[in-house]
Amino acid sequence: MKNVAILLAAGSGSRMRSEVKKQFICINNRPLMSYSLEAFERSEVIDSVILVTSKEDIDYCREEIVKAYGFTKVKDYVPGGRERYNSVMAGLDAIESMGGADYVFIHDAARPCIDEEMLVRLYNEVRVSEACVAAVKSKDTVKIANNSDYVVSTPNRNLTWIVQTPQVFSYALIKEAYSVLKEEECGLACQGIVVTDDAMVVETWTGHRVKLTQGSYKNIKVTTPEDLLYAEANLLK
Ligand code: C5P
Repeated sequence: MKNVAILLAAGSGSRMRSEVKKQFICINNRPLMSYSLEAFERSEVIDSVILVTSKEDIDYCREEIVKAYGFTKVKDYVPGGRERYNSVMAGLDAIESMGGADYVFIHDAARPCIDEEMLVRLYNEVRVSEACVAAVKSKDTVKIANNSDYVVSTPNRNLTWIVQTPQVFSYALIKEAYSVLKEEECGLACQGIVVTDDAMVVETWTGHRVKLTQGSYKNIKVTTPEDLLYAEANLLK
């Protein structure tokens, strides 16, 4: 089996309101993205990693993070794109150039609190379902709103989940899903479609069912300044 992780770190992180890009902010004296890289390095279910980052940050990532911390599984550095899904496409193209894969783990570098058990759970699940994503049941009631912030409906809380990454797919399936998305990319804005995760690409453009797999409430996406304190507490050794 050949399992490749695409680590997405090409976002601007503007909601962090920080001079240092979010993925390079230090948490407990280590850059945020090094935590995901360490989890992949230690994991028996990950063989190699494609690191997607801004073109101007590639040298920094290679020298100051990957070499500095001794990570051995990063096989390629790829410039990201305008939207998250463009960055995923760039990662998938890199996997294609490496001769493909069996399973692809797509992960946001902004989620440093992943653990080995979660990666194993996802791997066991994807071998059955071909498509699974880390997720937790919503503790809060979720409302669907209209554009004026008025409630339209209230889904049954027992059926609402908060979706995280890693999102894991068979290579054939994720490649197919993204190739259809590529063809339809021009029409997305007119149809009001905003692509925010990979499961959505698979659901929408292949119809394949995606299995929600237990993630962790600790697996937050570090997005705004207050998230840093929580991540710091979670990552203390
Ligand atoms: O913006 P969002 O919260 O969806 O970003 C999730 C992850 O995707 C982050 O780790 C970010 O660095 C990455 N990303 C990317 N390329 C983009 C936008 C986001 O790699 N164009």
